Amino acid sequence: SDHALDYPESPQTIDWSAHYPAFADTGKVPEFADVGCGFGGLLIALAPIYPDTLMLGMEIRVQVSQYVEDRIAALRTTAVDTSAPDQYHNVSIVRANAMKFLTNYFTKHSLSSLFFLFPDPHFKSRKHKARIISPTLLAEYAYVLCPGGIVYTITDVRDLHEWMKSHLEAFPLFEPIDEATLRSEGKGPILDAVYTSTEEGKKVERNKGEKWLACFRRIEASRED
Ligand code: SAM
Repeated sequence: SDHALDYPESPQTIDWSAHYPAFADTGKVPEFADVGCGFGGLLIALAPIYPDTLMLGMEIRVQVSQYVEDRIAALRTTAVDTSAPDQYHNVSIVRANAMKFLTNYFTKHSLSSLFFLFPDPHFKSRKHKARIISPTLLAEYAYVLCPGGIVYTITDVRDLHEWMKSHLEAFPLFEPIDEATLRSEGKGPILDAVYTSTEEGKKVERNKGEKWLACFRRIEASRED
């Protein structure tokens, strides 16, 4: 449960240089957040593609977040591609309950991409309130995303897909954006990673399951901006 977890009081109190030492002088903060990142496949796939973008995974399970931390540390010391020895310094992970403490990590409008990849489905209706996409949480997601920022969701559970889509569509600060448009805007590598890079996504593939993608743009202008 949560009380064993330490949370930053606010994003301003976080020392990001401890997460991203190679970027200590830049003053950069995370721009991509992978909520419920699991074993970290998305972060590892995107890190070398966007080497100047800081990325943070959030994972609630202790062993899983520790695994990702070790995985990143190992990748940083073993230069996989010797022509680019500084890979993976732009990715990190926190053990956190993202549903409760997202705004303790990210300041207003600081994220350009927010990922919800194969989130836990919570099949039973009485557990739907535990779903990671809900009206209350959407307000927080809109708050941390910059105008123009993108929410990526994907799942193999059709009912969950419809649920996430309908809540996002109903929320005034998000507008649907289709895959072709995103690709035309250069987001193809991100979409490819969303479909295939995560451990859950690979499992769905092995089981020949279907994948349902829904993406939304944080609208540019709003009264509270
Ligand atoms: N995104 C990964 C993937 O595609 O392989 C993992 C998918 S897995 C089905 C869902 C993950 O979300 C689990 O690792 C779970 O521990 C994590 N999770 C669930 N609720 C969470 C929360 N409130 N905050 C952070 N992580 C959470």
